[in-house]
Amino acid sequence: MVVMQGSGVSKGVAKGPVYFYQRAAAAAVRLDAACFEEEKRRLDAACEKSVEQLNALAEKARKEAGEDAAMLFETHAMFVEDEDFTDCMTAALEKGCTAERAVEAAGEQFSAMLAGMDDEYMRARAADIKDVARRILSNLMGIAEGGIDLDGPVILAADDLAPSETLQLDKRKILGFITRGGSGNSHTAILARTMGIPAICGLGDALKREMDGCVAYIDGETGRVAVEPDERTLAAFEEKYEKQREMKTLMETMKGQKDVTLDGREIMVYCNIGSPEDVAAVQANDGQGIGLFRSEFLYLASSDYPTEEEQFRAYKQVAAAMGGRRVVIRTLDIGADKQVGYFALQKEENPALGMRAVRICLSRPEVFRTQLRALYRASAYGRIAIMFPMITSVWEVRECKQACRKVMAELDAEGVPYRRDTEIGIMVETPACVFVAEELAKEVDFFSVGTNDLTQYTLACDRQANDLGRFFDPRHPAVLRAVKMAADAAHRAGIWIGICGEMGADLSLLETFLAIGIDELSVSPAAVLPLRAEIRKTTAGACTLERLKC
Ligand code: PEP
Ligand code: MG
Repeated sequence: MVVMQGSGVSKGVAKGPVYFYQRAAAAAVRLDAACFEEEKRRLDAACEKSVEQLNALAEKARKEAGEDAAMLFETHAMFVEDEDFTDCMTAALEKGCTAERAVEAAGEQFSAMLAGMDDEYMRARAADIKDVARRILSNLMGIAEGGIDLDGPVILAADDLAPSETLQLDKRKILGFITRGGSGNSHTAILARTMGIPAICGLGDALKREMDGCVAYIDGETGRVAVEPDERTLAAFEEKYEKQREMKTLMETMKGQKDVTLDGREIMVYCNIGSPEDVAAVQANDGQGIGLFRSEFLYLASSDYPTEEEQFRAYKQVAAAMGGRRVVIRTLDIGADKQVGYFALQKEENPALGMRAVRICLSRPEVFRTQLRALYRASAYGRIAIMFPMITSVWEVRECKQACRKVMAELDAEGVPYRRDTEIGIMVETPACVFVAEELAKEVDFFSVGTNDLTQYTLACDRQANDLGRFFDPRHPAVLRAVKMAADAAHRAGIWIGICGEMGADLSLLETFLAIGIDELSVSPAAVLPLRAEIRKTTAGACTLERLKC
């Protein structure tokens, strides 16, 4: 037995044969160039095939995952045909390299160049170039990328997976992911969480090719992987696996049920999503609405400001797919840890305290206007609510509302349909927002507490730093009291209040949230049914802060 420890980034246990992701490898490159013309012909054919595949993938992505995913593949197709890139490959052929070596060399050169740039966005494109080079190489070598040629499902092992690779995988054949690199924010982790597939990242060199075909048990909660487990480990895993199966069956029975406590108090259980493709998981888990759509995905996935039309299509797609259920779309929340190169934000000493979120929107009215126009236009196709992040002052909300009114007047003048009664809300993420919640509540239709940031700013603890351990404590009485103060202010003004930070899915806090009077909880799609089950066995009337000692 070999036991490996990584970081669990998507909960659940799985067992099955390890299968290494198929990728064209440098070792298989032919070394003798037959002749320039022949190699050039092979290279051109492989590039042409790559462009065809990428265009087909773009079409598939447009239907299944939305415009931003489609754009990713279109950009890859453009890379294949990029003049500098093709010149670089041709130059390598002229030096006597094989087509394979020419692709590899150009891929290495371009990705190294991008990786060395100051601009974070351009640095991130290095991975795209590698992805494109791999595709051309696979086509040259006749390797079917990502194909899992086994009948049964597998535990997919890889260094890490690129976006295009994850999208092409046959998800029905994947029991779990284990990767050498990656982090909780890697594509593998995000995809796994949305699909509810266990995943473990950061196994490093402990994950070896020789393990291909061996039976592995993985635990996405603890980050443990056991390859060819001994009997004791096997029994422990089996027990957990069985419990998980029972839990899944039990959770299925929750579908179609109301989110109501034993004594009849109804809570709205909504979902957090990051892109239109996540709506499928919301529907599969019977989420009653979307409580937080992090709209910055559109900006992060784009090489330039997304146009009004691109944004409109994405918001409309989500609103229409939710069929009249509430979809809370948060306006652009970049800055701090979410940097977008083309915004050319100043380098800051303390970015979490700097130019981020609504501060950027209010400082760049044109960027804000484009997003608001897209949101209002999309409001005609469903039940969109607009939410502003990182609010600290009443004047900020008033300026945001003024910007909304201006956009509505424009649309009126243009005869463009939109929903005049579109709800406007704010995120409660700063202590300042809590202290002036009384006044803010009179300005908006709802509050949603971003406990990730509220914890960071209340406790003066960087949420990105993973070595702060117990100092970063979302259950700290100061954080819970801040939530209570915001809830009281909301209810005095007659508006609803939800929680959309990670804390919302913590079942052990449900009674506290009921005692505080929280009206909505917005959680990842996979957390909906367990939360519903917990709500349905709780008596709201018995939840008091005195009893809970908060
Ligand atoms: C939060 O701060 O709790 C939140 C939901 O927003 P984000 O995590 O995107 O900053
Ligand atoms: Mg936040």
